[in-house]
Amino acid sequence: MIMGKITGFLEYKRAVETYDTVERRLKNYKEFTVPMKENSLKEQGARCMDCGIPFCHSGCPLGNLIPDFNDHVYKGKWKEAAKILHSTNNFPEFTGRLCPAPCEEACVLGINEDPVSIENIEKNIVETAFKEGWITAQVPENRTEKTVAVIGSGPAGLAAAQQLNRAGHYVTVFERDSKVGGLLRYGIPDFKLEKRIIDRRISVLEDEGIIFKTNAHVGKNISIETLKNEFDVIVLCGGATIKRPIPIKGAHLKGVYQAMDFLKQNNQRIDGQSKFDEVILAKNKHVIVIGGGDTGSDCIGTSNRHGAKSVTNFEILSKPGTGRPADQPWPYWPMRLRTSSSHKEGVERFFSISTKEFIGDKQGNLKGLVTVEVEWIFKKGERPQLKEIPNTEKQWDCDLVLLALGFTGPETTLIEQLGLDTDFRTNIKASTNDYMTNVPGIFTAGDMRRGQSLIVWAISEGRQAAHHIDAWLMGRSNLPLKDDNDLPRV
Ligand SMILES: Cc1cc2nc3c(=O)[nH]c(=O)nc-3n(C[C@H](O)[C@H](O)[C@H](O)COP(=O)(O)OP(=O)(O)OC[C@H]3O[C@@H](n4cnc5c(N)ncnc54)[C@H](O)[C@@H]3O)c2cc1C
Ligand code: SF4
Repeated sequence: MIMGKITGFLEYKRAVETYDTVERRLKNYKEFTVPMKENSLKEQGARCMDCGIPFCHSGCPLGNLIPDFNDHVYKGKWKEAAKILHSTNNFPEFTGRLCPAPCEEACVLGINEDPVSIENIEKNIVETAFKEGWITAQVPENRTEKTVAVIGSGPAGLAAAQQLNRAGHYVTVFERDSKVGGLLRYGIPDFKLEKRIIDRRISVLEDEGIIFKTNAHVGKNISIETLKNEFDVIVLCGGATIKRPIPIKGAHLKGVYQAMDFLKQNNQRIDGQSKFDEVILAKNKHVIVIGGGDTGSDCIGTSNRHGAKSVTNFEILSKPGTGRPADQPWPYWPMRLRTSSSHKEGVERFFSISTKEFIGDKQGNLKGLVTVEVEWIFKKGERPQLKEIPNTEKQWDCDLVLLALGFTGPETTLIEQLGLDTDFRTNIKASTNDYMTNVPGIFTAGDMRRGQSLIVWAISEGRQAAHHIDAWLMGRSNLPLKDDNDLPRV
């Protein structure tokens, strides 16, 4: 059967959801996308060319069946589209909002046109499915009597838990925070992901029979030995949460904070959690965010919502171009200048700049910082070298600095208590052949195994690990693996 509209990509231009005005959206922390009409979404689905070799598949870490759901959207068959989407992705409401969409960079249409708006279509499929009540608990028909403890409730832990529960195992998720979701809840701001979106999915998981234990810090207030005795399998999905420090003069000053401390507190305050030793606010402050990635962008959006006087962003890497670099051709992920909705809300961005020192007053309060311009020297076969450019020192006034420098790896408590091997980047060592650590019965997935990464990878890892865990417990597994997801085409 012919899929898609053969001339769709010639007839319709790419469109995605638009945003509410900056003025209005800065007044609150709510999501601010303006929904598209069903007809426009169908047109976007019709742009898909149903390529003989759909490169979008290989671009997607989950192997999403993209042309199949695009075709169903074009034909208005939303329920079928939701079924196809959920066959490879447990939580499209997260990736449909937050994924950088490597599938779109790999889309064949993207070679000489704007790619299909896959992420936007994905979001609308899952939102329609929730609105229509199609997403209901899938309680397993039979239980295996096997027990699984998942440590950590980020996207990797949640995906592993849902898959293993579907295989009939009794699954308990242990989370040290007071609510589940990991970085989805405590890192990513509400204006990118309202927390009711997480709660909505968690209640489905609970109805399916998964038990969530919060304020349960394994290795601290719950011993790992107890879990080893009580469960047949342990899955470590604790993320990569060690924040990269900045070892320069003045880093201890009052006013220099880690981005995650700022973002977590803000998310907790919006959620009505109110016990803080010290409230970190950007209101009326000159804010400098060091680090140009997603976390930096979230700090910019949050600072502007607080009412910062100014927001400045430093990135140590050089400014990329807006187009695809010649050495990163289609369908690869290109390093290009990305401008997020938070950037558009007000920030001055500087590239090739390194912070040398923070300056404080006699009371230990941050007053400013000193930077130097840098250049990167590339030599074949060698790691790029950073070189400071002489006579480029500059002093900047500021009273709040947010360090968005990424994470160096997973915390070590459980690694030490369990005697786990780690790789050269300090992540827990486990191969993608089985996701099992050097200790039999202890598995790992997500950022804890691969280092700081993306939601889509965390879900993918959780699903893949679940298959191997099920096979280890039962001798075989019917849980899908990425490569055998090929649904018959309709
Ligand atoms: C500010 C920020 C913004 C981001 N934005 C995006 C984005 O827009 N798009 C995107 O794709 N990715 C984004 N990411 C990355 C993404 O959030 C992570 O890659 C993803 O959440 C990793 O999932 P995970 O399940 O492996 O770990 P996490 O989400 O880190 O979850 C780990 C969980 O384990 C818990 N835990 C750890 N140790 C224990 C223990 N001993 N006992 C009990 N619980 C424990 C933690 O409390 C946490 O809840 C962002 C990251 C940050 C920090
Ligand atoms: S690569 Fe693009 S056009 Fe081709 S099937 Fe995938 S989404 Fe459709």
